[in-house]
Amino acid sequence: MTEQLLEKGMLLNGQWVQAEESFFVKNPATWENVGVVPSGTAAHAKQAVDAAASAFVTWSKATAYERAAFLERWFHVIESRLEEIARVMTQEQGKPLTEAIGEVRYANSFLKWYAEEAKRVYGEIIPASVGSKRLLVQKQPVGVVAAVTPWNFPAAMITRKVAPALAAGCTVVIKPAEHTPLTALLLAECAQEAGIPEGVINIVTTLHPAEVVDTWMEDSRVKKITFTGSTPVGKLLMRKAADTVKKVSLELGGLAPFIIAEDANLDEAVQGVMQSKFRNAGQTCVCANRIYVHENIKDEFLEAFTQAVADLRVGNGLDEGTEIGPLINEAAVQKVKRHLEDAQAKGAAVHGEAVLASSVGHFMKPIVVSNATDDMLCMQEETFGPLAPVSIYTDDAEVVQRANNTPFGLAAYVYTQSLQKAFFFSENLEYGIVGVNDGLPSVAQAPFGGMKESGLGREGGHHGLEEFLETKYVSLNLK
Ligand code: NAD
Repeated sequence: MTEQLLEKGMLLNGQWVQAEESFFVKNPATWENVGVVPSGTAAHAKQAVDAAASAFVTWSKATAYERAAFLERWFHVIESRLEEIARVMTQEQGKPLTEAIGEVRYANSFLKWYAEEAKRVYGEIIPASVGSKRLLVQKQPVGVVAAVTPWNFPAAMITRKVAPALAAGCTVVIKPAEHTPLTALLLAECAQEAGIPEGVINIVTTLHPAEVVDTWMEDSRVKKITFTGSTPVGKLLMRKAADTVKKVSLELGGLAPFIIAEDANLDEAVQGVMQSKFRNAGQTCVCANRIYVHENIKDEFLEAFTQAVADLRVGNGLDEGTEIGPLINEAAVQKVKRHLEDAQAKGAAVHGEAVLASSVGHFMKPIVVSNATDDMLCMQEETFGPLAPVSIYTDDAEVVQRANNTPFGLAAYVYTQSLQKAFFFSENLEYGIVGVNDGLPSVAQAPFGGMKESGLGREGGHHGLEEFLETKYVSLNLK
């Protein structure tokens, strides 16, 4: 059962604002209404930039210590409301409550880490070739930042952008995904409770993403767009950023290979692939999309893997023991079915049944497909669901070539006990993130991001802070 219907406003210049139009947020497990939020327009988008541009004047001049103190207070407020935020996230997004709690903790770790890192934005003094000159390099915030986020990690995708932006001295306008605006608004409530000055964080919820985001793309006061979502929308925003030459960070789709070498510890490999593949019902950009197993261990692996998959419990994320929640919507279910049918038609063996676990909600059972070949859709595009294709390989160089043979380059995984193989794979895989014997590599202090069409820029670590800083060179002639 969905809990009490939440009615929320958008946050503009420190005020909770309604709009003429509003929309219901649905629970993908029950199809019940979880909340109702305003559907913002181009006018709201402009108001958000007005507020952020005005707040930038003072926020950018606050000391790093003042900004750090705010991030630290925000962290503590979220911590105190962690369970409440996680329950709302499960209801609007579907993921099991334990995963939602894990996500809020992970999201909050960015506030903590950037509260600390805000104090370490250093400049440089470069040796001059003329005695009277002093060459200084200063770091300054880029200005107003527009952040556009997806539904699969409704909290983390926001803090991973907003924490470094605020630490750098930028102000933000945020547009969360229309499926999951409530988590975003709760985070904003926490920011208010923590005493964020008005206009520093603004959120526009809307059913019309292009109208709101285009307003920001056309506004020369917005200096940067940071986007997480699908590759086609990312490319569209990159083109639109050209007119005002905005800085662009993109975290886009993936097609992660998960390579299990002949000498892998099989128990650990199965555990790693379960975490990577089935977290969030397979709806993660870094999720194992193509599992490559060395032919000498394929039978042993398949037996253990199919058993572990068969044991997964599908259900409403609020029910105790649920490990796989519903998919976000019917289109997501249809995509998994299409990939399954295509794989079957091309000769894959199917282990288990993908029948719906319930007549209400967008549920699918997790399923393994073996004998997968590279011509199958599930090996060529993100499935974004609980379908795990397993393909056999014989030679390390060949599997690297197959793994790299895609326009995507976000995350890759390798399980091996050989140091040589660990280096061979991690050096040759064309991916921004490589987990070696690690199915969950993402942490606040390390750079997350993709190569090729998986994106531009990095989130996390000092690399993530750089994305929100301008480098200014000052030449002082003291003559
Ligand atoms: P999406 O691209 O449809 O939506 C992402 C955001 O863009 C949403 O806020 C949406 O409202 C907005 N949007 C949609 N159309 C727009 C338009 N024409 N103009 C401006 N904004 C628009 O993606 P999604 O379905 O919400 O998310 C799933 C995708 O996100 C997957 O491809 C996944 O791999 C990717 N993803 C990537 C990462 C990463 O870090 N690389 C993380 C999570 C998700």
